[in-house]
Formats: sequence, C-alpha cells, structure tokens
Amino acid sequence: MSGALIAVLFLAGCAAGAVSAAPSGHRPTPHRSSPAPTPARPTPTPTVPPPPTVVGFDKTALSVDDPASTWVVVNKSRALNPLAYVPADLTYPDVAYVNHQPMRQDTAAGLVAMFHAGKAEAGLDFSVQSAYRSFESQTGVYDDDVARNGQAYADTDTARPGHSEHQTGLAVDISALPAQCSLDACFGETAQGRWLAANAWRFGFILRYPADKVAVTGFTYEPWHFRYVGIPLATELHATGVTTLEEFFGCAGGTNYPS
Ligand code: ZN
Repeated sequence: MSGALIAVLFLAGCAAGAVSAAPSGHRPTPHRSSPAPTPARPTPTPTVPPPPTVVGFDKTALSVDDPASTWVVVNKSRALNPLAYVPADLTYPDVAYVNHQPMRQDTAAGLVAMFHAGKAEAGLDFSVQSAYRSFESQTGVYDDDVARNGQAYADTDTARPGHSEHQTGLAVDISALPAQCSLDACFGETAQGRWLAANAWRFGFILRYPADKVAVTGFTYEPWHFRYVGIPLATELHATGVTTLEEFFGCAGGTNYPS
C-alpha cells in the first residue's frame, strides 16, 4: 500500500486496530461483511470467554475528527480542524476555581456530579485548576513554556495551539481543595487524585495521560488532567481496560509533531 493511500485512510476517523491495546479479556470486533478469503473449513467455536460488559458498543457512533464531538481525539499527530475551533456552549459550573475558566455544558454537568460524589462518598473537596483555553491563550501558554524551558522541553508538557484538549472545552485540570500537589505528579497520590483515578469514569471522564502511556498519548503523566468523553465511552474504556483514546479508536498519536 502506498504512503499516500495510508495517509488518506487516516484523514477520516481512525483505523481501528492500528494501535493495538489488547488487554486480557478484550473482545474481538464483531464480523461485519468481510470477504472470506478461503471457503475452506468451518470456523471453530471460539474459546474466548464472552465480553465482560456492554455488548455491541459502536465505536463509530460519534466522530473522532469533529472538534465538537465528545469523542474527538486531539494530540500531537491530530490537530483540531479548524485549528482555531471555539466550542459553542461554554459555561461556568458552580464549583471552586483556581482559574475561572469555562467548559462545555456536558463537561460541566459531569464535573458537578463528580465533585458532589467525591464530597458525599469520600469527604473530598476539589477545584478547577484550568479548563477551556482558546487557541490564543494556548499560544501564550506554549510560547511562555518555550521561553522558559526551550521548545524540546515545552513540547513534552504543553500542547502547541490547535493540539490541546483544553481548546475543546472537554478537558479539566483538577486540583485538591485545600491545594496539594497542584499540577504535579504527586497529585496522583493525594486522596483527591486517587479518588478521581478510580471514579472519574462513572461521570464520563478519563484520566487522559496515564503514566505508562506517554509514548501513545505523547504527553507526560498528568494525574490532574481529566477529559470528558461521556459516560458510555468512559464505561466501555473502564470495562475493557483500555486507557487511551488512541488505542481504543486506533488513532495516530505519539510524542512527535508531524514536521
Ligand atoms: Zn490539562
């Protein structure tokens, strides 16, 4: 297959299975109308146990390309299109803020439910450290990081404008209240960080940058960065043990920007 054809295939959606996650207990994709190469022997009965949950989850139900889709996959390989996309339904939920930044309505509803549950179930308080950032403000954050730390370092911890989940209005950086380990890897060891890692899926969020998936997501471990994907997808990811959107949808990722 030519490189050009491969590139074309990646333009719309993502090639399922291009990135293999395959945790134990995953189920094979149901056969659609794939052509049978040889009409030889009947297929033996699979010995794989049935899937644990959610039969028939449709990975194509929502777009991974549309920036307004709650399943959009944006990373170093996949810029937002348009690059300066602005969500249409930004809102400020009634929660505590470090930086008063809005988020999309579904993100806000999920966040409020999650903060309330964290309080009710574990007595924990949270604040929004950061949420929506426009293309322009991401430019400022990135340029500032480059000025302070150099571009090579900046590219490991700050997305270039047009490549940030914060620009979708679906990402929230969460801090403990009172503040402890804000925007630091040790947030993952706080009571809030541990509770969020275990429970965020129930409210439609995922811990987007796991420690063991830096090569896949392209970003260092960020135990404070939660991405709203909706409860059905978050539940499916939780049930299957797949921890990144790139692996689940077979989307391009990685630590390098296309030159
Ligand atoms: Zn973040």
